[in-house]
Amino acid sequence: MSNSSQPNDRLEQAVAILECGGIVAVPTETVYGLAANAHDADAIARIYKTKGRPAFNPLIAHASDLAMAQVIGEFDDLSLRLAETFWPGPLTLVVPILADTGIAPAVTAGLPTIALRHPLGSMAELAKRIGSPLAAPSANSSGKVSPTCARHVQDDLGNKVDLILDEGDCKVGVESTIVKVDDGKVVLLRAGGLPVEDIEAVVGPVHRSAGNPRIEAPGMMLSHYAPSSPIRLNANCLTDGEALLAFGAPLTRDAPQLNLSPSGDLKEAAHNLFSMIKQLDALNPLGIAVQPIPETGLGAAINDRLSRAAQGTR
Ligand code: AMP
Ligand code: MG
Repeated sequence: MSNSSQPNDRLEQAVAILECGGIVAVPTETVYGLAANAHDADAIARIYKTKGRPAFNPLIAHASDLAMAQVIGEFDDLSLRLAETFWPGPLTLVVPILADTGIAPAVTAGLPTIALRHPLGSMAELAKRIGSPLAAPSANSSGKVSPTCARHVQDDLGNKVDLILDEGDCKVGVESTIVKVDDGKVVLLRAGGLPVEDIEAVVGPVHRSAGNPRIEAPGMMLSHYAPSSPIRLNANCLTDGEALLAFGAPLTRDAPQLNLSPSGDLKEAAHNLFSMIKQLDALNPLGIAVQPIPETGLGAAINDRLSRAAQGTR
């Protein structure tokens, strides 16, 4: 019995494509990824080309389990503890890459470190079946909003990928949290689907990255997650022609709107975030006004993505 909800023949089809150097859109608990065998340099080159992703922006390698990740990366005690506590799950660990792994250099964009994650669902199952990690960025054109259902991938990259595995909506809805252990300290490179507070409960204070985010984690590029309509954050009123992305009690009922979570639940809001941005954007409003969202728990990742979306449309 497979640990994913894909029918076996679809998974076998995906395995055959990946083994021949193809690229497959695969769901995880965070967002849909565009996956290729991390050992296959040509397939990895195709991922960068398909997304229009800058060559300096490295990919996350998805492993079937911790043992597969340890064949590729060097885990210090803290990284090991984090992996043992939170995998499978929405946490990516950046660790030094071991020598002679055969991983295509483009996966790490030439860095001496590699980003590793053991996700839930079909991505891990496929990595197990092909016996190699799968390098997979989010399955969207570079700079655009990440896909949280198969239709999002179909609309953006449908004719450019070999197969899209459809597993419905992603449970978490925002990308993984990325951390790196530096000098015995856990450093946050990107807020994401695992709240920092959960990590701190296990390893103590997590430090914010002081390095150049373009090098440390180019997913932090300001223009990421850009819809076409301008986004206005922390809105406490609505101007003419704007659509509303509400959170909690809506500011008004007299405008086109969607509510991330009427009850103010941050998990529900993260789950709905990208899909609702896309839906409001499709209405072509003069702008999208977003009600304030608390910075705690998943709110940090939600506010991070929203402020990047706001920058990208300025
Ligand atoms: P995406 O898959 O589109 O969510 O992007 C993957 C994220 O992981 C990007 O922000 C990358 O910059 C980051 N990343 C991948 N490899 C590394 C690495 N070796 N060091 C730091 N960040 C990395
Ligand atoms: Mg992405």
